[in-house]
Amino acid sequence: MDEVTRRAMLAATAAGSVLTLASAANAQTAEPIPQPQRPGHGGTDPGPRNVVRDRQNPDLLVPPSTDHGTLPNLRFSFADAHVRQETGGWTRQITVRELGISKEIAGVNMRLNAGGIRELHWHKAAEWAYMLYGTARITAIDAQGRNFVDDVGVGDLWYFPSGVPHSIQGLSPDGCEFLLVFDDGDFDEDNTFLLSDWFKHTPNDVLAKNFGVPGTSLAHLPDPSELYIFNAKVPGPIDSDKIAGATPVPQTFSHKMLAQQPSKTKSGTVRITDTSVFPVSKTIAAALVEVEPGGMREMHWHPNTDEWQYYIDGQARMGVFAASGQARTFDFQAGDVGFVPFAMGHYVENTGTTTLRFLEIFKSSYYADVSLNQWLALTPPELVKAHLKFDDQVMAALHKEKFPIVPG
Ligand code: MN
Ligand code: MN
Repeated sequence: MDEVTRRAMLAATAAGSVLTLASAANAQTAEPIPQPQRPGHGGTDPGPRNVVRDRQNPDLLVPPSTDHGTLPNLRFSFADAHVRQETGGWTRQITVRELGISKEIAGVNMRLNAGGIRELHWHKAAEWAYMLYGTARITAIDAQGRNFVDDVGVGDLWYFPSGVPHSIQGLSPDGCEFLLVFDDGDFDEDNTFLLSDWFKHTPNDVLAKNFGVPGTSLAHLPDPSELYIFNAKVPGPIDSDKIAGATPVPQTFSHKMLAQQPSKTKSGTVRITDTSVFPVSKTIAAALVEVEPGGMREMHWHPNTDEWQYYIDGQARMGVFAASGQARTFDFQAGDVGFVPFAMGHYVENTGTTTLRFLEIFKSSYYADVSLNQWLALTPPELVKAHLKFDDQVMAALHKEKFPIVPG
């Protein structure tokens, strides 16, 4: 049964229950209430239930019959994450505490209002970022005392190596929102090295000696509880923030990912950013994937490490194959994080009516994937036929080139 037929039958079988289960809210939408059943299996859910969430998770409520076994959860939404609100913006995070399987990558979603500053800080993990909205000014120095200042906008990246101190500030007219990715699942954005915190926990005479000034001139330092993300004036043009006489870092900490020429197929695009084009990003590699409605990121896997995903636009479902007969399907929309454990086969299908846009992120210096279709095209045909019983039509459809996005 194809997907359209399957969904039509689900709608038909659910329709009989609409009269008894329809709430006022659902009567308004006139959409049938989805039920955890397919022909010959399952049954209705008389409740209690959360119909809004059930609608968002059609492949959990009615999994494809090919799903099997006990795979751990591979999705967490930023909409389910605690929001820390501060005077200059807000932040929320998905770490190993939220998405237990993601041991090596954590993510943060942050908003800085115009002028809002993420205070000067550093941390053990390296920080990779993708700008989702607006513009920001970022600053850093490296261990050799070389400095970095840049303005970044939508589709730009930055990467601050482990231990490098940095700041981020929202610019005019409306600040910014971005995704941060850390190369440590246990990372905690509430537990970074804050400058204000260090000052608070250092004796005044030590601070005075360090800066070579009288202790009285350091008597009015800010309280860390007032900073972290705080309000400030929007800075002037970037030239006004350039430091006279400073030597720039030898490898830039920023990169224009969206401006990269994508590799294109009929139904989508892929932009890959790893050390081959962004040399400083030694621990994070990424792909920005766009899939048109009906299209699909083809069946593949990654031979180097886990995949951590962030969904930017549109709707998708991902099927993950874990070997030993295990497979599970998850649904995604904007603001969701997905995860594929190392080497597991998967596809990502656009299930919506608009362009699907998401990031594939890897704790690696390089991007790599293995295409199922390409593998079979580059294997002796007689072997493939004897193994999979493919007929001539399937054999002719194999292609030696990689097409990461296939049409609907
Ligand atoms: Mn940081
Ligand atoms: Mn993948």
